[in-house]
Amino acid sequence: MEAIKPKNILVHRYLAGIEKEKWSLAHDGGWRRGVMTTNMSECLNSVLKGARRLPISAILHLTLLRCVQYFIACVSTGGRMVQENQLWSDYACRKYDKWARKSTEHRVAKFDVREQSASVATVGRPSRGQHMQVVKLSTMDCSCGKWTIFGIQCSHVICTAKWYSLDPTTLVQPWYNISEYLATYEGRFQPLADERYWDPPTFELHHNPVRREKEELVEIEQLD
Ligand SMILES: [Zn+2]
Repeated sequence: MEAIKPKNILVHRYLAGIEKEKWSLAHDGGWRRGVMTTNMSECLNSVLKGARRLPISAILHLTLLRCVQYFIACVSTGGRMVQENQLWSDYACRKYDKWARKSTEHRVAKFDVREQSASVATVGRPSRGQHMQVVKLSTMDCSCGKWTIFGIQCSHVICTAKWYSLDPTTLVQPWYNISEYLATYEGRFQPLADERYWDPPTFELHHNPVRREKEELVEIEQLD
């Protein structure tokens, strides 16, 4: 917060009025697992881009088609990951491989066997920073915060686990498992028949002229 203050005092004031866990990845207790977008709507937007400013029926049709395409692509990706005998999703594999390579550059000093704690000195290039991190395997914690934020063990945890003769691959959170990925996309869609074949609706639609007039007024003002 102190770093934000000299950059923009208005932003600092605004953020000071909101609980940190509502907007900061570092303070949300790991709930968002590294997701930097503000909410789920951003995820939906990435899939449904373009399905806007169309008639309602066209939006619904496009939304259905995009969802079906997305699920088909994900099921195909899942099949490929199973064939390649991956333990986790591509996202987790990329992160784990990167941090496993980095872990070979660290020096570990064991501290408490019961807590399985250690201090880990990073011995990388000086330009990339040399730090000391504290790892406690018993409480699944590393002072760098990455294990909590991403649910994937950081380079410090990987080398500490090896020093305590633990298999570091067992410390990745289970929701990255291939089985979880496949379960996410196991839902199936049914093709939609022409409207003429639908059952008659059990409700009545009512036009809302007041709301439409307001919307048209806003559109005209925006054009001006
Ligand atoms: Zn760490």
